[in-house]
Amino acid sequence: MRDGEDGYDLVVVGSANADLVVRVERRPAPGETVIGTGPATHPGGKGANQAVAAARLGARTALLARVGDDDHGRLLLDTQRSAGVDTGGVLVGGAPTGVALVAVDPSGDRGVVLVPGANARLTPHDVAAAGALLAAARVVAVQLEIPLETVAAAVREAVRARTRVVLNASPPARLPAEVLAACDPLLVDGDEARALLRDAGDPAADSAAPKTWAEALAARGPRSVVITLGASGALAAGPDGIVHVPGRTVEAVDTTGAGDAFAGALAWRLAAGDGLAEAVRLAVRAGAAAVTRPGAQAAFPTARELP
Ligand code: ADP
Repeated sequence: MRDGEDGYDLVVVGSANADLVVRVERRPAPGETVIGTGPATHPGGKGANQAVAAARLGARTALLARVGDDDHGRLLLDTQRSAGVDTGGVLVGGAPTGVALVAVDPSGDRGVVLVPGANARLTPHDVAAAGALLAAARVVAVQLEIPLETVAAAVREAVRARTRVVLNASPPARLPAEVLAACDPLLVDGDEARALLRDAGDPAADSAAPKTWAEALAARGPRSVVITLGASGALAAGPDGIVHVPGRTVEAVDTTGAGDAFAGALAWRLAAGDGLAEAVRLAVRAGAAAVTRPGAQAAFPTARELP
């Protein structure tokens, strides 16, 4: 654990899941049973992933999350601690640890059943009780796998403490204006960008141009916007206008968790004082490194591994 005296670079408020992965020849049709192999159990959840991604790069990181008093919860706590994440803010009990049941077919396509479990029990009250933790951070990173009112509470605490908010709107959901206004950046992938715009009735959702999505999202109130574009890199829309950071050509083995590797790296660099475009450049490299290895957390790079 690294609870440095000057606080944390990053506090992540988010989900922690056990990913139970089975391999199948094809996913079952309604009423059908198919035989699979596995399961393999991996630590996951966007919050837990982003905390590990940042800590592995060297960020002083703490996680505020809720897991069950069960083996999955202990697995998550162990892997966070081994990565150097301060788990003092991880609450235990109230419901079983969240689980993602993942069925992967031979083409690599994944069908997922997500059971939020304890993630759904992370409350605004839990966030208020952790106010000192949030106030000790340079950046607070949130995603949308915990209740929206808890996200809003975390953002309010961060704003009160003048802490920068990196909000990864994944899975996409309608955000209250006060939450949107605090995002610096609002971080989404291309599909999520279009889903948010579609939900807002914005015709930019029908455009094929990521720059149009970035402009339209920026007009909805966040301080800045970052859109990840898979192998094509990412767009940063901030004080310097819109900057496209090209992707890096790598041999992609497994893209699971690429977005979380990106988010953790972005938060780390912003906490270190980088400008938005500069931070996105590093995050694109972290995302590319993560896809060259199998798994999510297991594939996240250290700073030394970034070219
Ligand atoms: P998500 O996984 O959230 O949908 P993306 O697919 O946009 O997010 O990936 C996030 C980042 O990971 C990208 O901005 C890029 O840096 C990196 N990345 C993802 N896929 C590839 C790929 N095939 N080749 C190189 N980099 C990739």
